[in-house]
Amino acid sequence: KKSTELADVATVMKQIYAPTLLAGKVALVTGGSRGIGKAIALAFGALGAKVIINYAGNAQAAEATVGEIVRSGGIATCVQFDVSDFNLVQDTVKALEKEHGSIEILVNNAGVSRDNLFVKFKEEEWDNTLDTNLKGTFNCSRALAMSMMRKRAGKIINISSVVGLTGNAGQSAYAASKAGVIGFTKALALELAGRNVQINAIAPGYISTDMTSALSNEVLAKIIEKIPVQKVGDPIEVAKAAVFLASPSSSYMTGQTLAVDGGMTMH
Ligand code: NDP
Repeated sequence: KKSTELADVATVMKQIYAPTLLAGKVALVTGGSRGIGKAIALAFGALGAKVIINYAGNAQAAEATVGEIVRSGGIATCVQFDVSDFNLVQDTVKALEKEHGSIEILVNNAGVSRDNLFVKFKEEEWDNTLDTNLKGTFNCSRALAMSMMRKRAGKIINISSVVGLTGNAGQSAYAASKAGVIGFTKALALELAGRNVQINAIAPGYISTDMTSALSNEVLAKIIEKIPVQKVGDPIEVAKAAVFLASPSSSYMTGQTLAVDGGMTMH
């Protein structure tokens, strides 16, 4: 019950969705080099989208993800930029659209978790968490909203967290950033609803990735006790929801937050 083998994303996706579900779409997945973002990138690539994988510094992991998509017959490329840098994001996204065509799917997944007891919290930890998780989501959405509105087509998927719904001791900045992502999702969904641009969020529960790998078996056992399905999630569980939100399956949904958490939260 501790953790699942990481799934073969492309194979599973092609079993449950039509392999051309996202054909002709260009998707930008921030933080697509590892973990949940990687699973989403692999899923989109397996279902026909051209995938642009953003990463912060881990070029090797990003290139490996591109390689996996290309080897399974998909189209992908990777690009390094820091999502928290407003001007850099605007310029880079503009250049990406020129090179690869209009981006119709954006997944704001890049995130960090700088945790500490609140009374020990450093300003730099707070700023880094909010700048990456919340401002990064604003920056990338801002870079694409206008062109999506003009085309009357767009899907923005923001990766929040159950912690943004429930709070968590030791994670004040992270919880604030993830709750902020949910409020942002609702406000932007209202603004763009009339232009056929849909904005939804996913709130993953405990998912097995580098971000969560540092926990001891003892802490992990305590976490699993609180998960009704009694196991941690595989990144593919989040990718399945991201495909749903990126595809026409979710055509009448906007401003929603889907919890993908094995039943941890019910709201
Ligand atoms: P990982 O730590 O495994 O991966 C983080 C990814 O984000 C990497 O691709 C990293 O790039 C990228 N990244 C980090 N900072 C930046 C930045 N400033 N600019 C661009 N890219 C950046 O995280 P997870 O896969 O676990 O998490 C992905 C998202 O899901 C996050 O938003 C996280 O908060 C959220 N989440 C995760 C949960 C979990 O249990 N794992 C639960 C709930 C939510 P690089 O490889 O170059 O470092």
